[in-house]
Amino acid sequence: MADITLELSDQDIKVEIPEKLIFGRTLSNYVFEIDYDTEKGGWNNPVIKAREKMPISPAAMALHYGQAIFEGLKAFKRVDGSIAMFRPQQNIERMNNSARRLCMPEIDPELFMQALKKLVKLEEAWIPEKPGHSLYIRPVMFAYDPFLGVRPGEQYKFVIMLSPVGPYYPEGFKPVPIMVTDKYVRAASKGVGECKCAGNYAASLMAQAEAKKMGFSQVLWLDGIHQKYVEEVGTMNIFIQLKDEVVTPRLTGTILPGVTRRSVIQILKDWDYNINERDISIDEVADAYKKGSLLEIFGTGTAAVISTLSKLKYNDLTMQFSDTEAGELGKKLYKEITDIQYGRKEDKYNWMVQIS
Ligand SMILES: *Cc1c(COP(=O)(O)O)cnc(C)c1O
Repeated sequence: MADITLELSDQDIKVEIPEKLIFGRTLSNYVFEIDYDTEKGGWNNPVIKAREKMPISPAAMALHYGQAIFEGLKAFKRVDGSIAMFRPQQNIERMNNSARRLCMPEIDPELFMQALKKLVKLEEAWIPEKPGHSLYIRPVMFAYDPFLGVRPGEQYKFVIMLSPVGPYYPEGFKPVPIMVTDKYVRAASKGVGECKCAGNYAASLMAQAEAKKMGFSQVLWLDGIHQKYVEEVGTMNIFIQLKDEVVTPRLTGTILPGVTRRSVIQILKDWDYNINERDISIDEVADAYKKGSLLEIFGTGTAAVISTLSKLKYNDLTMQFSDTEAGELGKKLYKEITDIQYGRKEDKYNWMVQIS
């Protein structure tokens, strides 16, 4: 694979990070881009260049048939002044899993890593240094060929863009109200629930919009077959703390295998919690609540890291936790993970990949 070409802009492009950052709104100046063309023998022309608008045919296949996948990870300015990413190999692997499932070409993991490092290094001035801030990294791949028949694309674009982000909860770590939906499902058995593909998010918007209207910030998703087993919360994985056990649903193919989920499982094991990946029905959760043995529920994901629940509505039952205070275990995990990310604590798992 050819080296990545660096095309520096001859324009004077500035680094301007807004005082008040809205998640996903501000993009940095440069992107990594590489093209795939079956006729040209695959991936070609890896380049880091100024971000600009991209010409796209109205017949581009991703727009019609949904071959579009993405990833999300973060880079941090650490307390010792260095820059590092959190577990990027996991995202690289997951992106390639998504690609295979959607009949899209895989990216050479080494090239992917090199692109991440080079781009973040070039754009390091875009990493905000305020507490809780970081640089969100968004790789995306989509079918680009103008063709109206249904088949896998033969031309793809893979782009990595960067976005400076602030803490997910600017007013502090605040618990959120969630409602269980049995009206919609997120993912069907043997479908694409475990892929980070664009269509999954389009399909989830209606449930979230209805939850919002009813005063909830997200929905808790149940399994697609029985509408019985807990799967995820919004676009996060879910953990349920019972009196003598912490449970997270096992990966069955309908659940997105989160990097934060995996990290939380590891930490809880090391802290000697009885952490189990198993099926857990919403009725088991409700029974535990009624018996007083449901301690806390939280979601995990790259953007927020940890998000604890203030309440969970399931039909007529509202399971009430604190409206103001985040759960103890959630808070402890948030601190542990962000301490590792910002270098306030030894990275004993070797999770951070140093950039400079
Ligand atoms: C991205 C995502 C997650 C969280 O994954 P992380 O790797 O921890 O960010 C969980 N569920 C869904 C549906 C997701 O898209």
